[in-house]
Amino acid sequence: MAEKLKWAKYWASKGFSVVPVHYVLDDGSCSCSRGSECDSPGKHPAPSRWVKYQKECANIDQLEMWFEGRFKNYNIGVVTGVVSGNVFAVDVDIAEGKAGQDTLDDLCMANDDLPVTFEQRTGSGGKHIFLRAPEGQTVITGKNVLGDGVDTRGEGGFVVVAPSNHKSGRNYSIDDWAKNNEIDDCPDWLLEIVKTDAHRYDSTTLQDKTTNMWGDLVDGREGYMVQLIMGTIRTWWATKGVLPTVEELIEDAWPTFERKAIARGSSLAHDNRGIDQFTRKAQYQLKRAHNNELRILHGVEPASEQNTNVGSLTSGVSRSESPSQTPTTQGFRITDWGMKRYAGEPPEMEWLIDGILPRRVPGLLSAIGGLGKSFILLDLAMKVAGGDQGMHQETALGGRVVHNGKVVFFGAEDSANSMHRRIASIGGPNLRDRAADNLFVVPMPDAGGPTPLIINAMGQYGVTPAFEEIRKQLLEIGDIALIIIDPLQAFAAADINTDPAAGQYWWSLMSHLAVETNANIIIAHHMRKDGAFNITKATQAREAIRGTTALVDGARWAYGLWAMNEADELVLAQKMDNIEAGVGQCAQGAVVKTNDQCDMHIRSFIRGETGLLMDRTMEVSTILDASTKLDRGQTRAVFEEINRRWNTSEPFSMAANTTRSLQAYLHSDYGMPKRAAKSYIEAWSTQGFIESTVHDSKTKTKGIKVIKAPDQPQSWSAYG
Ligand SMILES: [Zn+2]
Repeated sequence: MAEKLKWAKYWASKGFSVVPVHYVLDDGSCSCSRGSECDSPGKHPAPSRWVKYQKECANIDQLEMWFEGRFKNYNIGVVTGVVSGNVFAVDVDIAEGKAGQDTLDDLCMANDDLPVTFEQRTGSGGKHIFLRAPEGQTVITGKNVLGDGVDTRGEGGFVVVAPSNHKSGRNYSIDDWAKNNEIDDCPDWLLEIVKTDAHRYDSTTLQDKTTNMWGDLVDGREGYMVQLIMGTIRTWWATKGVLPTVEELIEDAWPTFERKAIARGSSLAHDNRGIDQFTRKAQYQLKRAHNNELRILHGVEPASEQNTNVGSLTSGVSRSESPSQTPTTQGFRITDWGMKRYAGEPPEMEWLIDGILPRRVPGLLSAIGGLGKSFILLDLAMKVAGGDQGMHQETALGGRVVHNGKVVFFGAEDSANSMHRRIASIGGPNLRDRAADNLFVVPMPDAGGPTPLIINAMGQYGVTPAFEEIRKQLLEIGDIALIIIDPLQAFAAADINTDPAAGQYWWSLMSHLAVETNANIIIAHHMRKDGAFNITKATQAREAIRGTTALVDGARWAYGLWAMNEADELVLAQKMDNIEAGVGQCAQGAVVKTNDQCDMHIRSFIRGETGLLMDRTMEVSTILDASTKLDRGQTRAVFEEINRRWNTSEPFSMAANTTRSLQAYLHSDYGMPKRAAKSYIEAWSTQGFIESTVHDSKTKTKGIKVIKAPDQPQSWSAYG
């Protein structure tokens, strides 16, 4: 029997629906008509009508016709999912730079080992682990379903199988030990993550769950156990320069785990989360640490950090202990959250910008077009990278920058040359020098073009290889204070403005990245122009941010920047030098969404000579406040004018939109904002100083008449 037919029958005997697949020719091109242009050489089905075999298996006659005839040199593929007995493949990518094996190890450590089931090696050096889902339960086909580098091929999926060839020159193969293995049932914990209705991105609950790269785990305790173990190992390494023994690790970390986890279940050991499992996991992670396989230790200098109390770690993975992290609501117990959890000194808030931007949160900076948000963010980048907490403390977005470090800026809208010109106009040469080693500005148009970080494949959101690459590089750089992504829509190919699920997925990804990198992440986004007029409160600015509410709700923090209203800008133009109204020179900004105790006051910015917005809040509010008040002499003059006009044919009018408008007069002659003028007029009217009454009995025209002139300085609250 022909070799290929023998293999086809082998796969069919395992219950798979088998199809012929194109193969890779000696020169690396595909056997299909696209040849060297094919973007999936040797990996796509050969018969044009193969879709049929997603529903039914080819019979033996058909296999013989294919693999003894026309397709005898071809590769072999199997359809996954219901047609093949509901078998799916866990696709672990182990190629250079791929984290598949680590991800799978972590996932198994956090849950349980996978059964010893049937598996094959892929042509790229990875593996396909085959498991069977229960009847009636379909499995997702998607990228990174189980985390970084671990895909699943379930319903609608397909994998190339042994002995097919691969563009790498290697063949798909089955190790001898696996050849006769049965396909095992999928363990329940895994099924919870991979099943089609797992609701990984459920629109109502995602933000409330512990979101990690594995989606939401059924119970946070296993994950917590691993985090605690890894966090303790990292602390030992970073503060003492040695790895703990298993006993030392248990002594340090077990009491914390026991205290936090025991209240949730009647017995930890009973549901397999006891000291035995803890010990096994500790041994496993310590072994990895000794083999230099523990990624959290990469880049950590031994004994490089201050020794801190293990119970209140502020670095490494144990950050998940911080109360500012999104807590899990799954399986919580109310009694676990008594006052004793809140005893002692509360942890101090840590800031990137004091009072404005908390550390390590993913957030949104949203501005209307024309305000120069990229410029503002580049300025912030420079200050975080080049400032310090001594002589060179900088300010940005209305607050002091209180944490400095490396900054990575991804800009999709500006070329290297335009970035260069901007950088040259920000700060002085000193700031630029100080920022030099800390600031990385990647102009995407000159760095391979803008690239989406998330995609929607078959209804599931997932990350792109570009994201994985960027993430890897960020982790390699290490010790990053701030990551800026500008603008959102250039990096999110998915319809981020209309699909709530896209917004949720985006933020869960960014939260995870912020935790992993220890950095703040700021995403630049547009504000709707039509919503940005006459904003007087932070909440109005929040409404004006483009996109679905999920986009704003999902952000831990959002900052809005909008144009100052025209009336105020006119006042400033009258009272300040070098200000012109109507050219976007004056802007206002505020934290418009926060989960922490941020200063949400609106601040006023004025564009300086370099084009940067400078915080001039104090000055601006002094001028605007003064402009809303009339002093005694001004009040007397206004009343004299009202009286004078009453005795002409053109008395003042209460209406705002006539040439006789008193409000317009106060605005034009006294520089009062219209709303301040309006409230003065209302106050004078209700307190009986003026009235609107018939001026001309023939035409019934009304005018404003003085009843009594105030002879005292204005004592009423006319405005505000
Ligand atoms: Zn092809």
